[in-house]
Amino acid sequence: MDCLFCAIIAGDIPSRQVYADDAAVAFLDISPWHAGHTLVVPRRHVADVLSQPEALSEIAPAINATSRLLTQRLGADGLNVLINSGATSGQEVFHLHAHLIPRYADRPGMAALMEREADIDLDAVHRRILGQA
Ligand code: 5GP
Ligand code: ZN
Repeated sequence: MDCLFCAIIAGDIPSRQVYADDAAVAFLDISPWHAGHTLVVPRRHVADVLSQPEALSEIAPAINATSRLLTQRLGADGLNVLINSGATSGQEVFHLHAHLIPRYADRPGMAALMEREADIDLDAVHRRILGQA
């Protein structure tokens, strides 16, 4: 199967992983809206949450653990959890993923959610999440 996130989970495509458990893997989004924007994906291939809603409970522990990790390590003031389901919703990668988007007081509110911050250093953010900086 030709799936980008299956290839990332298999390690065939590199990613900046921040958390993993038996059911899910979490890695930094390559084009973050805010520093620490992370995707949580089930290890098994699930196209979207509408077709297999039970997959949501499988990744829930990883969503919880990763949310705590991101907010604590990055000092975020809030967090958006977003799951697109279907092309009409804006889903572009058809392997279920929850966007975890840490939010900071200097850019608050829903209107600023998808306004990409320029020049986020992904490697530096990754080190901070892993407690290496
Ligand atoms: P969607 O629109 O499907 O909900 O979100 C897909 C997300 O995957 C986007 O935010 C996009 O930046 C991210 N993405 C696309 N290709 C890659 C990649 O190769 N690596 C990583 N880490 N994220 C990716
Ligand atoms: Zn997949």
